[in-house]
Amino acid sequence: MNGIRVGKRIIGAESPVTIGWENIPRVEGGPAKQFIFTWFQPAMLLALLAFWYYAPNSIAKASTAIGIGIGFKVLLLGLEWVNPRYRSWQLTWKELTTDLFYVGLGYTILRIVDSYIGSDVMAKGIQHAFHWDKFTWFVGLPLLVQAFLISFLFDFGQYWMHRGMHNWYPLWLTHAPHHYITQLNINKGAVGNPVELFLIGLGVGGFFDFLPRAFLLAGSFGMAVSTYQHINVRFNTPAWWRFVFNTTEHHSLHHSRDYEASRSNYSGTWIFIDRMFGTCVDGEAELLGMEGGRRMSIVEQMHYPFTEAWKTLKAKLGRGRFDTPESAVPAE
Ligand SMILES: [Zn+2]
Ligand SMILES: [Zn+2]
Repeated sequence: MNGIRVGKRIIGAESPVTIGWENIPRVEGGPAKQFIFTWFQPAMLLALLAFWYYAPNSIAKASTAIGIGIGFKVLLLGLEWVNPRYRSWQLTWKELTTDLFYVGLGYTILRIVDSYIGSDVMAKGIQHAFHWDKFTWFVGLPLLVQAFLISFLFDFGQYWMHRGMHNWYPLWLTHAPHHYITQLNINKGAVGNPVELFLIGLGVGGFFDFLPRAFLLAGSFGMAVSTYQHINVRFNTPAWWRFVFNTTEHHSLHHSRDYEASRSNYSGTWIFIDRMFGTCVDGEAELLGMEGGRRMSIVEQMHYPFTEAWKTLKAKLGRGRFDTPESAVPAE
């Protein structure tokens, strides 16, 4: 991160970002409000871990996790209304309708992927390919350690996939529509091109039919940490939380209009992975999006990767025709 110094507020002409924690606004309000918005996130994580640890087998299954996930999002939608981070990010009917369209699309795609991967043949194939007997050492570990390792390894993969998307053009084309969102709200994680949603759905859907308890516990980290990547709520989370976990602040920088600042904070849950690889930038941003905050329509989100790829290809071929002597063009 050249040119951006820690602890200083950098105000660019078009895309201001705040670097460091010192200048980030605090929750405004009385001691009760301060307390709630300091401890809400750690308390929720603890509650979820405790639930999945002690829940009887009859309710420890994927459908319960989906139900809790929906209830949790409704609660967070309420928090956005009570304690917004930025007025400029407040939901309009247009934003909400768009978000819900993508949430519906996400569930549909997930269900289709699940019907393939969750089918008996695939499930047996995957179970066979994994050679569970080789994992007895793993199953022997304490349940919470298993959950941590699953969550960390999954996020490690996501980190490199996401970093790849920001560094390799074909992958970027699938991810770019997500970066056209201009504000963060609880359902914005679902907004993007279906090809990207499909790639993510593959990773999640694969586990659906045979969810051991360690996976349900690992999911708690996803639900109680990753969910806050896109949310319009001001929290005063403790410093240790921001050191270990990804936060709205981190992800708002990732979505900022400042190109350099956006090439950071790739992990979904464990911001610690970004610290390990030197891509973590602590701070936040309010002005988000691409092309100065142009809002992309649903129709454009759908065809963008394909039309953009075609445009680039055509430009390259066109240039090639003029630049390359005919003798240098391969026969095929
Ligand atoms: Zn990204
Ligand atoms: Zn995002």
